[in-house]
Amino acid sequence: MILTKNSIILYSVMPKKMQKMLSLILFFLLFSPSLKAESPNFIIIFTDDQGYEDIGCFGSPKIKTPHLDKMAAEGRKFTSFYSANSVCSPSRAALMTGSYPTRVSVPGVLFPRHEIGLNPDEVTIAEVLKEKGYATACIGKWHIGHKPKFLPTRQGFDSYFGIPYSNDMTIDPEASLADNINLRNGFTKERIKKEKPKKNLVPLMRNEEVIEYPCDQTTLTKRYTEEAVKFISENKDSPFFLYLPHTMPHIPLFASEQFKGKSKRGLYGDTIEEIDWSVGQILKSIKEKGIDQKTLVIYTSDNGPWKLDRGRGGSAYPLRGYKFQTYEGGMRVPCIMRWPGKVPKGTSCDEVAASIDLMPTIAKLAGAKLLKDRKIDGKNIWPLISGTEGAVSPHEIYYYYKGNRLESARQGKWKIRRSGKKSQSVELYDLDSDISETKNLAKENETLVQDMIKKMNLFDEGLKKTQRPVGKL
Ligand code: MG
Repeated sequence: MILTKNSIILYSVMPKKMQKMLSLILFFLLFSPSLKAESPNFIIIFTDDQGYEDIGCFGSPKIKTPHLDKMAAEGRKFTSFYSANSVCSPSRAALMTGSYPTRVSVPGVLFPRHEIGLNPDEVTIAEVLKEKGYATACIGKWHIGHKPKFLPTRQGFDSYFGIPYSNDMTIDPEASLADNINLRNGFTKERIKKEKPKKNLVPLMRNEEVIEYPCDQTTLTKRYTEEAVKFISENKDSPFFLYLPHTMPHIPLFASEQFKGKSKRGLYGDTIEEIDWSVGQILKSIKEKGIDQKTLVIYTSDNGPWKLDRGRGGSAYPLRGYKFQTYEGGMRVPCIMRWPGKVPKGTSCDEVAASIDLMPTIAKLAGAKLLKDRKIDGKNIWPLISGTEGAVSPHEIYYYYKGNRLESARQGKWKIRRSGKKSQSVELYDLDSDISETKNLAKENETLVQDMIKKMNLFDEGLKKTQRPVGKL
């Protein structure tokens, strides 16, 4: 807007009321875009079943991850970062809502036969940011409901591209097929509707339609990356949220020609090295677009690795246990955050933090308010992320659910685990001196054990009383 001499004269002869209104409009035009420009971008890269050790800077002896290592050198590593469950769907429901998955009634894995999903009434990170005018995209594996009413496009995302659940599953014959669907392996639309669905043959979707069947999984990481870079490029001038939940390294494993057979850790290592390349592409993209300084990038995994032979699974070393378990290996995951100028570079944080904390933290950073009508278990962990001196975990005690059962809890260095039909078997570990959970100290610490069990029971009762319903068709 140009303030000419004439326009100033015109303004001075205007009635007072009109002057006031014009001033307000001017103020809004001048300051609103700059406020918007200050809103940070958020990118969450969420891998599937990647073990605690499976990044160079987390100790992998064989998998090469130069881009992730650089990301950590330019950002901060979190060494006591937890997923909210040891399997896919609950872990994702928790990430999206900031609540323990049992609270939002997604305690277990969803399959293509299921007609339930994360309740559309739940407020996701994308919906929180949508309120603040963010552009939002989900690129990758969703897995909290594949029926149309549960898809990302109905949960705050402007667009969706990816596989709606795990890559070892099948197709739901009721899925909506795009007119120009890319049919492979001799499939026809009729065959998809009539034949018994086959394992490992999954649909690739754009928004709410299947655009490829069966999905060519060898090029999936590459295609997710291209979509992500395109989204960043298209939204570089306005705040955005990119959620990139990779399909890999969930089994069956696939890598593109460029990466297949290249790592020293078999096909599993190949998939991680391709994801590492993908991270490099994304970081390069935000640097080239000049938005490096206003973008928080978070990299973590949805749960621990599969226990598999012949090196097909990942490694949670030095942690005990695997996916499906509440030992540390099932739920403590590698995590790196990077935001130049805001997150101290080359640092590490060992305070307890979790994927449920991302939603409230991101809301705070975006200046968004959370709904007061529901319990959010996650906490704002910005003091931990930004490296505030003396910052400690906001979780006095962190809970590990297995399905609907509260099985473990961590309070400071102490980890308790109860198993057996009546939770009769009790283990207590000092994670500071015994990260691998080898020495059960329950007998020596009876008072502490009783105190932690009391807290667990109280928390679980409270959660079950305020449990919110799963989404149904
Ligand atoms: Mg998983």
